[in-house]
Amino acid sequence: MASHPTNLHFVLFPLMAQGHMIPMVDMARILAQRGAMVTIITSPVNANRFRSVVDRAIEADLKIQILELQLPLVEVGLPEGCENFDLLPSSAHAVNMILAMNMLEEPAENMLKVLCPPPSCIISDGCFPWTNDVAKRLNIPRVVFYGPGCFAFLCVHIVTSTNILDEIDSDSEYFVMPGLPDQIEVTKPQASTWGRGDTKESTQVFERMVEAEKDTLGIVVNSFEELEPKYVKELSKAKAKRVWCVGPVSLCNKSFQDRAERGNKIAINTQDSLKWLDAKESGSVIYVCLGSLSYASTEQAIELGLGLESSNIPFLWFIRQPSEEFEEWLFKEGYEERIKGKGLMVRGWAPQILILSHQAIGGFVTHCGWNSSLEGISAGIPMVTWPQFGEQFLNERFIINVLKIGVRIGMEVPVIFNKLDESKEIMKRDDIKQAIEGLMKNDEEGEARRKRCMEFAVMAKSAMEEGGSSQRNMTSMMQAIIEELAKKTTHVQDIV
Ligand code: UDP
Repeated sequence: MASHPTNLHFVLFPLMAQGHMIPMVDMARILAQRGAMVTIITSPVNANRFRSVVDRAIEADLKIQILELQLPLVEVGLPEGCENFDLLPSSAHAVNMILAMNMLEEPAENMLKVLCPPPSCIISDGCFPWTNDVAKRLNIPRVVFYGPGCFAFLCVHIVTSTNILDEIDSDSEYFVMPGLPDQIEVTKPQASTWGRGDTKESTQVFERMVEAEKDTLGIVVNSFEELEPKYVKELSKAKAKRVWCVGPVSLCNKSFQDRAERGNKIAINTQDSLKWLDAKESGSVIYVCLGSLSYASTEQAIELGLGLESSNIPFLWFIRQPSEEFEEWLFKEGYEERIKGKGLMVRGWAPQILILSHQAIGGFVTHCGWNSSLEGISAGIPMVTWPQFGEQFLNERFIINVLKIGVRIGMEVPVIFNKLDESKEIMKRDDIKQAIEGLMKNDEEGEARRKRCMEFAVMAKSAMEEGGSSQRNMTSMMQAIIEELAKKTTHVQDIV
């Protein structure tokens, strides 16, 4: 039985979505750097996305392996290869993906039974509640990981474990979220797009997630204590679980290659964009990237393009999948020629943490995914907040009202993830221009915002350094696992 952190064997089950896989792969490397062995279990397409990252870790003598499980896609009506939420033919297919993920229980258990050395702990995405049953049957401790930080997670806990939302009639009325250390106001739709399913299958998964959580040893969070001390405590109290903040995990990426190549193959003209940035003044450029899943309709993309163009701020805009109509518009307008010098539009995947740490970047237009938010914080960059769905509106509240390091773009109504294509609320070019210019202003407010950002960035780095809070929490988590394993062994010895 493992009795030292370096004898531990962690098995990680990341959800097949970039916002969950990327931090879990970082976490895998942090665990391996602490001497543990790590097995990441995922499907072949997802394994390929981070194989080079893992290969580099192996070359650096870290004990990491990827094992593959086939998602039963055809059985649930999904096309072959469609193994990640960002590959779904339409967002309405999310439910099929959930069904396929639920069918991994038996093959995963069979895989774990023959793993050598045997696993000492499962770190599972919360969206795989069945890993709790597997962990119980195999008598291994399970730690759970969700995407969000403690603030949003606590908000989700409050709205899912109380009747607060039933008391709110209107969808546009702002109410004060009860039981929080700060005065936070949200609307009902903003508070309820995560943790409450909108289909039978997703509701069942959320219910099972809550049930499974009761048996877990604790919750590991990609955040750091100094960022949200009150919320770490409150979350731990509310869940009656240990909460280990071990982030920002993105800061474990030290080499150029690790920082550039995270999650996907980067856009082919990335080098040009870095050169373009090199020529810009320090802190002058706004970086625009709306995450791995958010979708901008053609109308919205045009407004964004025109808003950026009309602002007096240089911009670097990464756009993942421009629609054909948008491409036609760009061509017809000669947009890219028109913005030359002032702005740059890049199609494809951004090397986000590399860009955020570039001296030329002074602001970030973000959809408020938790990873992006934390990456912005770690780089000391103030943000224009443009939430879309999930817990992103809660993250926006955290950035604006708690940390006070952002400017809202003014998005009010969440898009429902599986109805993204019906997205109605369009941010107009003037809203965009105003928010960006407001954020980048050199007035007193802007300076204070930048100063706060820099302070958080320093705290983030310290947390991840030797002796820092996140390092200590990682040790504490490993220690808790060792103690749990010792208890389990004693229990087995008592029985026999
Ligand atoms: N990301 C990236 N390049 C892109 C888009 C996203 O590197 O072009 C990364 C980003 O750095 C973050 C993750 O993908 O680590 C997205 O996670 P987040 O929680 O911000 O949002 P989601 O995509 O899950 O909505």
